[in-house]
Amino acid sequence: MQKVSILGATGSIGKSTLDVLLKHPELFSVYALTANNNIEVLLQMARLCSPEYVVIADPTQFKQAKKLFSDGQLTCEVLAGHEALAQVASASEVDVVMAAIVGAAGLMSTLAAVEAGKKVLLANKESLVMSGDLFIQTANRYNAQILPIDSEHNAIFQCLPTEFKYGDLSSSGISKVLLTGSGGPFLTTPLNELHHVTPDQACAHPNWDMGRKISVDSATMMNKGLEFIEARWLFGLKASDIQIVLHPQSIIHSMVQYIDGSVLAQMGNPDMRTPIAHALAFPERIESGVLPLDFNQLANFTFTEPETERYPNLALAIQASSAGQYATTTINAANEVAVEAFLQGQISFMQIAQVNDECLQQTSSHSLKTIEAVLESDKSARRLSINIIEKLSHIAQRINT
Ligand code: NDP
Repeated sequence: MQKVSILGATGSIGKSTLDVLLKHPELFSVYALTANNNIEVLLQMARLCSPEYVVIADPTQFKQAKKLFSDGQLTCEVLAGHEALAQVASASEVDVVMAAIVGAAGLMSTLAAVEAGKKVLLANKESLVMSGDLFIQTANRYNAQILPIDSEHNAIFQCLPTEFKYGDLSSSGISKVLLTGSGGPFLTTPLNELHHVTPDQACAHPNWDMGRKISVDSATMMNKGLEFIEARWLFGLKASDIQIVLHPQSIIHSMVQYIDGSVLAQMGNPDMRTPIAHALAFPERIESGVLPLDFNQLANFTFTEPETERYPNLALAIQASSAGQYATTTINAANEVAVEAFLQGQISFMQIAQVNDECLQQTSSHSLKTIEAVLESDKSARRLSINIIEKLSHIAQRINT
């Protein structure tokens, strides 16, 4: 029986994780569930799995949460704040940590799990994008097992040979990693219409049901850019080892090409319960609840190259990955601020890339050798992005008046 902490339990990945866990009560029990402030959903989830702890990251919600959880049905302890997140991620009783908080907010609790040498199921790609080198060194030092949850990286992991050595493609006869992406909801939208798309349109992904931040990132393909950086750190790849391929059907989740001409692909219906079940049970297999692929019902598979003009964020993220850790931390922070501003109606869809670009251009190269330096760099990129957004909003107001 393995004990699992789900960080970011009330989100899309968190709910899918609980769904898989509840199918296997003989294998897993839940140690902790965490949320930012979504107490009602946390309560419903706690009633399903009776965790030992629940954590509300936002301390202003603590009193309210305590009240709601003291209904006599639950025995779990209620904790609050970011230190409590790290506590339930690193507790000695915990075997597995699902790192599914969205954005930079997930960094410290994910690192706490890594430092405690846990089996870490990594959905929070932003923590690797921000602190890649430190993250991987810490995982090696503390013997943490990192299993990718992003469907693409989970697919690559499944297509690599078991004896694959970090960063060494040639010893395994691998020529290339093919990172697939759907292209999001605006794959065929005329370019001049992209300036006017709304947050709801951007969040309406054709194949995947996800949280709003990653949905916008999928529409701009910043998500693929972050995944490009994530893949480099997870598998030790050079930029030239990765080719991005658009596959709008989202059935192939990524591929590995070998020097003899073979290409291994991992396929399945687009449902995150597959990579979650894979990582939970690895190296065994368990049922996930995902419907099997019906090859008689599958439409054509198509593959194309992403257009630079449509997806400027993708090129920016790839450039950042070559510029170094400061640049990936900067673009991640700028993008979080810009996506939030777009969701709040402060900037237009195409201005997300403008904010990211300007923020990168205004940030000079600096080394990030400690986690404190990473956090400081993240903070200053956020300040800079807010200034850039304010200027853009003033310009838009002047044009409209
Ligand atoms: P959601 O927005 O659906 O959920 C985010 C979770 O994080 C919620 O539990 C939320 O709590 C919590 N949270 C938000 N802000 C904070 C904070 N400041 N402190 C602590 N907790 C916080 O996100 P997703 O589930 O879509 O994504 C989670 C992660 O997984 C992201 O890094 C994403 O890139 C990655 N991922 C997601 C995929 C998907 O299919 N959704 C696919 C691959 C990767 P509350 O509900 O209270 O706000």
